[in-house]
Parts: sequence; C-alpha cells; structure tokens
Amino acid sequence: EELQQKFPKVFEEGLGRCTKEKAVLKVKPNSTPVFKPKRPVPYGALETVEKELDRLEGLGVLKKVNHSKWAAPLVCVKKAGGDIRVCVDLSTGLNDALEDEDHPIPPPEDIFASMNGGRYFSTVDFKDAYLQIELAEESRHLFTINTHRGLYEYQRLVFGVQPIKGMCDPKNQKELRSFMGMITYYSAFIPQMKSLRGPLDKLLLKDVEWRWSTKEAEAFQKLKDVLSSDLNLTHYDPQIPIVVAADACDYGIGAVISHRFPNGDEKPIAHAARSLNAAEKNYSQIEKEGLGLIFAVKRFHKYLFGRKFLLRTDHKPLLSIFGSKKGIPVHSQNRLVRWSTILRGYDFDIEYVKTDDFGQADALSRMIQKFPTENEDIVIAQVEVEVEETLHGAIRKLPVRVADVQEETQKSKLLQEVQKYVSRGVWPKKVDEKLKRFSSIKESLSCVQKCLMMQDRVVIPEALQKVVLKQLHEGHPGMVRMKQLARSFVYWPGMDEDVERVVASCNTCQVHGKTPRKVPLQPWKTPERVWQRVHVDYAGPENGQYYLVAVDAKSKWAEVAIVKSISGLSTVRTLKDMFSTATVPIQTTTVPSQTTTSATVQPRRTTRVPKPIVKYDPS
Ligand SMILES: [Zn+2]
Repeated sequence: EELQQKFPKVFEEGLGRCTKEKAVLKVKPNSTPVFKPKRPVPYGALETVEKELDRLEGLGVLKKVNHSKWAAPLVCVKKAGGDIRVCVDLSTGLNDALEDEDHPIPPPEDIFASMNGGRYFSTVDFKDAYLQIELAEESRHLFTINTHRGLYEYQRLVFGVQPIKGMCDPKNQKELRSFMGMITYYSAFIPQMKSLRGPLDKLLLKDVEWRWSTKEAEAFQKLKDVLSSDLNLTHYDPQIPIVVAADACDYGIGAVISHRFPNGDEKPIAHAARSLNAAEKNYSQIEKEGLGLIFAVKRFHKYLFGRKFLLRTDHKPLLSIFGSKKGIPVHSQNRLVRWSTILRGYDFDIEYVKTDDFGQADALSRMIQKFPTENEDIVIAQVEVEVEETLHGAIRKLPVRVADVQEETQKSKLLQEVQKYVSRGVWPKKVDEKLKRFSSIKESLSCVQKCLMMQDRVVIPEALQKVVLKQLHEGHPGMVRMKQLARSFVYWPGMDEDVERVVASCNTCQVHGKTPRKVPLQPWKTPERVWQRVHVDYAGPENGQYYLVAVDAKSKWAEVAIVKSISGLSTVRTLKDMFSTATVPIQTTTVPSQTTTSATVQPRRTTRVPKPIVKYDPS
C-alpha cells in the first residue's frame, strides 16, 4: 500500500508505458518492403475484431495511416477465455527482413545470485507487457497492419522435466530396442551406461525368448535414473544454440530440448512426453507429428520464447507447413494451420532429419504410455473460418453454388476416393492413372466443408467442369488469360488441356487471343477537368456476374454496373446508359482486351466512345 501511494502512476488502470527505453528494429540492408493484402475477417469474429481495433486505437497502440510501404495481414487468435487477440502475421515478410538480435537474458543462476541475502521478495506482473514498450519513431512504419478497415501503424511493440521416470517397462523387443537407441545416444556423455545396459542388450539378441524378470527391471530402472538425473542433463545457457526435437508414435509424443555445443555434440536440457488422448490417436501421422512439435514448443516455452532455435522433425511434409515464409498456407489441413499460427510467435528454423538419426525423441514417444494429457486449448486461431471463407470466395466466382460442388463431389467416385486419402493422410503406394494426378499433389489437397481444395482453389467435380469452362470462356479471353483465370480459383486434372481445347475451337478467341504487341508503358497525364477521361474495366466474375467499372481519372469517381455479359455490344450499351446520366467523356480507356476494342464499338462512333490508341499503364 505504501508503494501504491508512492507510485500511483504505476498502479493506474489502463495501459502503462515504459519510459526508460524505446524499441528500435533494424532492417537488413537491401531488403525490399513487403506489402501484403488484407485477409478476410471471419464473419463470426468481425465484431470482436472491430472492438479490439477500437480499443487499441483508443489506447494509442494503433494509429490509422493512409500509406505504408510495409504491411502485414492481421490474424485473429482466440484466447482461452474466448477473447480474440489481434495479432500480426509478420512471417509474411518483416521477420525475414529484420536483423537477428541477441537479447542477453540473464540465466536463472545469475538472478538467484543477485538475490542472495534478500529477505523480502515480490512478484510483479506487467499487464500487456509487450505493449508497454514504445516503438521508436523510425521503426513504426515497419509494423503496419492491413485490415478490412484500412492500414494501422503500431506505436508500441507487438508480440508476435521428469517424463523419463514415467516410462513403463518395455513389453517386447521393439519397445526395448527403441529405449536402447536412446541409451546409445546418451552414452557419449555417460560412460557408466555401457556397464548398466548388459542385461537388456541380451534381450535384444536374435531368437532370445522375451523374459522380463527383476534383473531386467532393475537394469531398466537404473538406466532411467541415470537418464533423468542431472548427470545427463546440461544447464540452460542462453549463449549456446538450442535444438528442439519432437516425434510421435501411435500412442504418444516425445520431445527433447538440447544444447548444441561448438564441437557438434548435443546434450539435453530437458525431456517431455505424454500419451495421446482418444481423439488424438485418430489424427493422421502428419498431424501427430505436428502435435509433437507444438507440444515441445509449448512445454519448453520459457527456454524458447524470444530467442532463436532449431526445430527438428523426421516428418518432411511439416517443413513446408511450419517452415513457410509466405504466411500461413491456407490449403493445409485446419489443425495444422492452427498450429502453424501458434508457431508464428517463435523465432526458429526448421530442419528435417531422417528417422534413423532420430533416436531420443522417438524413443520417448514410444515408451511413455500413461502420461497425463495437458490442455491444448491455449491458443486457437480462427483460421478454420478463414479457410472456409477461401472456399466460398472461390465458388462465388462460379456459376454454381457451394451445395452443387458438395453434392457433385460426393457423387464422384474418384473425388470420394481422393477425400478418403486426404483425410487419412495416407495414400496407397500404387494408384491408377486417374488417382495419380491427385496423389502427386497430395500435400496441397485438403477437405473443406465436404469439398476438395487444391491450395486455395476449388477442385471442380467432373459434372460441373463444362459449365465452369463456359463461364471462364465468357468474353473470349484467349488462351493465356483464360488459363490464368482458371488457375486463380479452380482446379481439376487436365484443366489446362480442356481450356486449350475450348480456345482452339473458338474463332473469336483465335482472332483476338493472340499475344498483344509489346509496347512500353506510358504514365497517364492528369486531365484538367472531371469526366474528361474515364478508365473502364471489368471486375469479376462474382456470383456469375461481372461488374463494369468506370473511374473518372480526375476525381476518381467510380460508376459500377452489374452485367451478365461482357460482350462488346453489351459494353457499349452499358456505357451509353452510364454516360447518359453524366456527360460523355472525351476519352475512354480500357485495359487492352478485345471486348471493348472489338469491332462492335466502331460502328457506334456516334456514342463518341473513342478507341484507345496508345497503350497506357492500366492505373
Ligand atoms: Zn472464345
């Protein structure tokens, strides 16, 4: 109470501010700013996100800005209590561009040593500790977030051992061999291991009957004691590189955090393991492995947070998911995506190691059978909703409904088989020609709401391919553009060939689809009056419709018309309507496409829609 009276400001409600130092972040020389588009906010989270943005703006943590060279997308992370925290996905660029900085954290020994002789101890918990530190002026522009409400700049810093004893006696040679693998790994550090392992080594000989008597049990116990004693563990030293390895088997996950010494030796700091619960046992192998890494990182959080470490797995596909520098891949299965958002909070490199070289964590995961499961619901991002939004967004561009895609996907024998393998995470070694087209891209496939997705594209079932092709062909875009359009949101094996076939048999595409002559781009001059020059282009398709957008170059005033067809005739008609409510512009432009420059425009010169002659930068 005395303290409270003496320093009333420190105990005030609201966000505190560190007055001693500001955070300065250094960008590596020659790094290019990365500006990422905003992500769709899940509808269910919209209200909460808005409130959080308001709160942070009110606290002075966020400031609205109009321009920025850097922008990272916003990620919503659900806290245990159901609250949503607004985070920044810095993995999209800034993380890589920042200089690695070593923050020397005092080792516990030093802290305890400095406390020597003290009689009174108190703990102080800073509320929103990170946000209390101000970002230096020159660093603020780096932390810009791109949200559905525009750009915001951060003014404050943002955030992005006992299990061995619980091991059960081995039940067979396989389990024992696994344990002995770990012993071999550690015997480099503990010479006495060699003499202790004798009785157990005998059990591993060929054609020996499995016999677990007191003798074996005692040897096993001693080895466990040695393994978990301080003898074998090294002390955490913030200056020495850290390696975290995790592995999973059918019923458990194991993890080990080690120091890698300058001579290449690795010595563990701590072990952790637990058994899988019933639901987790049904996870696919990749998910079990992913769970292992998440378990390891969470368990060793205090060693890992705020410093760089190496994460090691023997499951190669995890590299592309957890090691992605391009932001969270939306195509991965939901659970993995959620975990990869958890990992965003840490600074690590990920490394693949062959299973054979992976002794320790593997043994741990196999040996631990009855270990309490901890609560996993610490951080759950709302990415599932985000993935579903991607599916719906892609289907909105099509002349079909989500229900159609769902229904036809269920009806398709081939896609049913694909879905089965995707959800199991295991593909048969030998597959027929048709399935092969899918198995070769298996890492990119996922099931979302009974539909199949390939990355963020919808897999179109056979029955719907024709109508989708028809829509893609709308406006005779020609080969290149039609393929581009198709690849931006749909997928099926042989799609490119189908597009080629459609274009090859279409005369209009043949005439207009040729690659346009390359002409250097020239910037537009700002016109003197409004409605003097109007830029015209089509947006869409969206819900099977197109939008004819006309923007006045001077005032930036935009007119939009919803149209079913983007033929030349329809374009002229729509523009006529549009111009009849305003004046007729002197110059109309379009992005070079055959639609509006086609012959249909010319006989209607009376509408005074002149054809663009010079190719300008489509701004
Ligand atoms: Zn055509």
